[in-house]
Amino acid sequence: MNNFEFKNPTKIIFGKDTIEKLETEIPKDAKVLLLYGGGSIKKNGIYDQVKTALAKVEVIEFGGIPANPEYSTLMDALKVIKDENITYLLAVGGGSVIDGTKFLSAAALYEGDTPWDILTQNIRTEKGMPFGTVLTLPATGSEMNSGAVITRAETKEKLAMGGPGLFPEFSILDPQVINSIPERQLANGLTDAFTHVLEQYMTYPIEALLQDRFAESILQTIIEVAPKVLKDPTDYKAASNFMWSCTMALNGLIQKGVPGDWAVHAMGHELTAMFGIDHARTLAVIAPSHYKFNFEAKKEKLAQYAERVWNITEGSIDDKAYAAIQKTKAFFHELGIDTKLSDYTKDYEGTAETIAKRFTERKWMGLGEHQSLSPDMVEKIVKMAY
Ligand code: NAP
Ligand code: FE
Repeated sequence: MNNFEFKNPTKIIFGKDTIEKLETEIPKDAKVLLLYGGGSIKKNGIYDQVKTALAKVEVIEFGGIPANPEYSTLMDALKVIKDENITYLLAVGGGSVIDGTKFLSAAALYEGDTPWDILTQNIRTEKGMPFGTVLTLPATGSEMNSGAVITRAETKEKLAMGGPGLFPEFSILDPQVINSIPERQLANGLTDAFTHVLEQYMTYPIEALLQDRFAESILQTIIEVAPKVLKDPTDYKAASNFMWSCTMALNGLIQKGVPGDWAVHAMGHELTAMFGIDHARTLAVIAPSHYKFNFEAKKEKLAQYAERVWNITEGSIDDKAYAAIQKTKAFFHELGIDTKLSDYTKDYEGTAETIAKRFTERKWMGLGEHQSLSPDMVEKIVKMAY
């Protein structure tokens, strides 16, 4: 197992009717900027619950953060933060609103020329403006980690950022918010969380036995609750287990002591930047090709996944590993998620070359858990996903 340090300072407040606890989490003397997305919170009652809980605090609002949080919109929010002397940020939304809030937390205290440098120059945020979240969509794990992904439409870029200063101070997870999530977003959330586990688990060598079993239990739980959540989002038992699985999938625990892959996300982000495909769907497009391309290196782990997660006990290591990739693809299909790029766009020709070129320009010469995936290999994987 690799050496590691583990500190996750985010306080989780989980359960029914917990949004009212906002009142005790936000400092009384704070000047709060309430950040939200396209308005779903105004239709499902979450906004009203938040406003009631914040009745005694000074609050200014900024709505309209789009899915795949857009840099130019966030720069408008940054102006509000500066003009109004905001001291505390509150994200009410899914991964996009939370990631956008993390960017603002970093940008608000950033002293360099332009905040976009935080993304292009990999500037880690040691200290950001304090913020909390009310999660409305289980998927990304952003509510309990210190990473964010920001999109810039102007340059068709989607880049990651992070740092120890970007953990939320608290996150409120009320599984009842799931009641109003459309089926498409439920499927996205299940797929994103599932792939987060795979990115940390489907690596070699196999040395972290406990982390493997944590990861397998999250995968098994997602597989078990997925059809129930899709059938009836008001099924509280399924919803609460779905929500907690998504958080646990990317809060650092299963990543400790293991090398993370994350090549699927790196390639997937390019597909969102180029075609606007939902984040989770880009992962379902890339993951099967990635595991097929890296079959020899990853087959022992793929076979373990086949046995322990999918109960495939017959056949050789190669047979089981291959069956595991097929099962993963079939699972995405059962969720209603297509797994080929050509299912999403007719303009896919040239995509692989463009991504390989971008990675080369960014000097991303070695992706994956052993930094061994060159831009040429990336080109082949993306082509296999057409
Ligand atoms: P999202 O983009 O935050 O939200 C998707 C849609 O769901 C929006 O239209 C939103 O509407 C709607 N929605 C959210 N909650 C709802 C509710 N309770 N009822 C009805 N509709 C609701 O989706 P996401 O999958 O959570 O986030 C995706 C982003 O996170 C991507 O940019 C991805 O790259 C990033 N990401 C981050 C991490 C990380 O660790 N930081 C990890 C993976 C992915 P409104 O806009 O109206 O709210
Ligand atoms: Fe993701």
